[in-house]
Amino acid sequence: MASKKKLHAGPGASPPPVADDLEYRVTREKATETPFSGKLLYNKAAGTYACVACGNPLFSSQTKYDSGSGWPSFWLPLAEGKVKTSADSGHNMLRIEVSCADCGAHLGHVFDDGPRPSGKRFCINSAALNFAPREES
Ligand SMILES: [Zn+2]
Repeated sequence: MASKKKLHAGPGASPPPVADDLEYRVTREKATETPFSGKLLYNKAAGTYACVACGNPLFSSQTKYDSGSGWPSFWLPLAEGKVKTSADSGHNMLRIEVSCADCGAHLGHVFDDGPRPSGKRFCINSAALNFAPREES
């Protein structure tokens, strides 16, 4: 039974609090949100996608694309070292897990069927991301 976990920010609170149960399950328990359900899947606004747990900026709208997979997809992280990857053999599949390099939150997986020039598809849960629209100048 999954009990409802309530996390509150406070002095000495650790790990970083997340807002709701889905965010908790994705970032801490490596759950995957239901495809085509994510709040950021169809977001095409210009801006930055940050880690929902710690606020580390991870992806730019400039590298977001529609992969048809049902999850927000990017072909490149915002910068080198923003995310870290590791082998994930869960669910009887060998995949490459993507997590936040700052806090270790689970974000999604990366695959080798992305568009040029990187050839990568970072398949990221909406629940692991916070979107900050870019200010128009
Ligand atoms: Zn983080």
